[in-house]
Amino acid sequence: MYKIKTTRLLQEVMQNYFQGFLQSSKIAWCTSAGPAELLRSFGFDVYFPENHGALLGATHKAEEYIPAAVKCGFSGHICSYTTSDIGAWLSNETPLKTHYGLEKLPQPDLIVYNTNQCREVEDWFTFYARQFNCPIAGIHPPRYLNEVGKAEVELVIKQFQGIIPACEQASGKKFDIDRFREVLKISCEASILWQKVLQTSRASPAPITFFDGTIHMGPIVVLRGTQAAVDYYKILLEELENNVSNGIGCLKEEDCRIFWDGMPIWGRLRMLSDLFLQNNTAVVASTYCNSWIFDDFDENDPFEASALAYTKIFINRSETAKMEFFKDWIIDYRVDGIIFHDSKTCFNNSNAKFGLPQRLTEETGLPTLVIEGDLCDTRFFSDAQSTTKIETFIEQIEDIKVLS
Ligand code: SF4
Repeated sequence: MYKIKTTRLLQEVMQNYFQGFLQSSKIAWCTSAGPAELLRSFGFDVYFPENHGALLGATHKAEEYIPAAVKCGFSGHICSYTTSDIGAWLSNETPLKTHYGLEKLPQPDLIVYNTNQCREVEDWFTFYARQFNCPIAGIHPPRYLNEVGKAEVELVIKQFQGIIPACEQASGKKFDIDRFREVLKISCEASILWQKVLQTSRASPAPITFFDGTIHMGPIVVLRGTQAAVDYYKILLEELENNVSNGIGCLKEEDCRIFWDGMPIWGRLRMLSDLFLQNNTAVVASTYCNSWIFDDFDENDPFEASALAYTKIFINRSETAKMEFFKDWIIDYRVDGIIFHDSKTCFNNSNAKFGLPQRLTEETGLPTLVIEGDLCDTRFFSDAQSTTKIETFIEQIEDIKVLS
């Protein structure tokens, strides 16, 4: 059975990351596509609540905690990262205890968010600012952009610079542009290595699937801007490139190559991964894993580069722009079809609500399928119905290939 050996090292890297909070002098909380590099330049150790939400989903704990958040006034139909995370907090529990030896969440000295992904993060993080009586600062870029132009970048540069006083006050350190440059450079290096890791799946058989990617993306999310992330992706990339050279991949032969759009279904990663492999199908790429490629980072102009990179991310773009991203990925990864995960509680990262899959099929001829589900709340996901839909979709693709 195919296994990525570097996974063993991943466990160690993540363990070290979480254990590091026990010695932290200053901690900042940040959104997953927030200004982690700027925060690290002040010496903060950076904690990401979305990572905690994903852990709650993957460990099947989310459904247990969501009711506590609902009782506190949060709708059960908003982001289930938010509701499961807040519910766990209200229940005074966290899987960080059993998985990484932390008794409780790392206590923030500063909370920072970027609404480039959704407005939900502002409400979610503000809840914690009240709980901890902690300063909070936010970046609010223009959203749903066709193009990211000079005006948008200049606006976001000012917002990045606007959070510096809060960082200085919470860290007790003056802003150091040279340190910011260094961190951004390291972050760029990790980001490009991560991009190369994902691009190994352009090969057939693919050496890493979307499902593996959701696990191996840990360091690019939580350790962005650290040498640990760079070192990890160098080792992972070497292994995957070797596998490509030796013709080794997740499958011996792929009958079908699929692109996944939208959030992972954290509580069903194993089930879905097995389902595709049993059907000789590799899910070779995704919008989700590609979201942490920030190849515009440039230490020579750190504010402009950060503003541009964090504003032009896929989730922050118009459907017109997203169509172009999809067309490129379809060619790059030679996919036979796209599955859109229509996530019940994440409107922002679901692209099947306004006819995009149909338009994509009309323009490219590529088959698309929409499956309903959720990132953490598996009450919105039907195993039986989704299995039937996915298997039928794969059969249809195989029929099309035979006929063409
Ligand atoms: S993008 Fe979706 S899943 Fe992520 S924090 Fe926002 S609403 Fe939640």
